[in-house]
Amino acid sequence: MAGAGEREGVETDQVGADRTARGHGEPGCAPGSRDAGPDPLPPVGEVVARALAAAVPATAPFACATFVCGVRARRLGKLVPQERLDAWKGEVKRALGAALIEAWAGLGRRVDFARPELLVVWDADRGRVEVTARAIWVYGRYRKLDRDLPQTRARWRCPACAGQGCATCAGTGRRHPVALEDLLAGPCARALGAEPDAAVLHGMGREDIDVRCLGPGRPFVVEVPGPRRRDADWAAVAAEVAAGAAGRAELVGPLRIVGDAVVARLKGFEAPKVYQATCRAEAEADLDPARVAALAAALAGRELAQRTPRRVARRRSDLVRRRRVLALDVLAQGPREVVLRIEAESGTYIKELISGDDGRTTPSVSELLGVPTACVALDVLEVRASDAELLGPL
Ligand SMILES: [Zn+2]
Repeated sequence: MAGAGEREGVETDQVGADRTARGHGEPGCAPGSRDAGPDPLPPVGEVVARALAAAVPATAPFACATFVCGVRARRLGKLVPQERLDAWKGEVKRALGAALIEAWAGLGRRVDFARPELLVVWDADRGRVEVTARAIWVYGRYRKLDRDLPQTRARWRCPACAGQGCATCAGTGRRHPVALEDLLAGPCARALGAEPDAAVLHGMGREDIDVRCLGPGRPFVVEVPGPRRRDADWAAVAAEVAAGAAGRAELVGPLRIVGDAVVARLKGFEAPKVYQATCRAEAEADLDPARVAALAAALAGRELAQRTPRRVARRRSDLVRRRRVLALDVLAQGPREVVLRIEAESGTYIKELISGDDGRTTPSVSELLGVPTACVALDVLEVRASDAELLGPL
């Protein structure tokens, strides 16, 4: 997530600020010396006039309060000593910035070197301007109510065509035509005048496709690159999400713009989670009520050893994780079914806590009940991370 001012090869900082010359000078062309031939660097006034003529229409679609100008001149840079190039680029940047402020009269835009909303780069080699709008990050919490809805688009390619598009997938290349990512990121991107398919959902963890997420919902950030607008009517966006999701998912609480640091917080925050799991015996025998009654005492507070489950072994490294069950209660039970409320540390594999995954997770509900048991329905009841913890002083 490089800021708009941090793109490779473009220096937007002030000229002469402790920048080491990189030795691009030609042999025999010592820094500061002048070739006899014509100056390869065009006059600043001419360059700025061309850059301005290109930049004014190119920036017109973008709202911004702050901007910064950059100059890219790799080819030209090889023809003159570094100091000379830096000085020339600095003059062009300053003059272009001043000219843009004048051209944008009344908009009150100002230069911000640290976190500019718009980066305007004059590519002197190609004679064209590149405009990049700094991404916007939108925070919210979702409930996922559908057991056939993937969180993100990427991992679910159509198995018949490997993502190329075929009759099976109606040309979409996707196994599931819609992901939660589409339902949340699409409306945010459209409201900000950005490309919906480029917007990315960063969830605070994920649930499997067949798992619901209820209660206070799962925190997420939608990253919207290239926005043409810097703000939106977030209540209207939430209404659009609700209409598009049609009950398969819903927002909890408002959407709001946050700093990019929140994504790292989401990824690093180890929130305990509360689950409701329906477990079913996979044998033609009833569960032993005494063993069911003993489950809570056997598992609450217990540390599990969980070797990477077989179902995710292809994409995760094979290791043994230690995770603790914080609390466990039996909510309901039938002859061959038991419904558990399980509170566990972040990263616990709940389906494997129940099945035992052929001994790869221990202890397990199967092991303790003495009967092979499968998790047939799983809901996340609570992700224990408040908005204040995640958004608090940045
Ligand atoms: Zn296909």
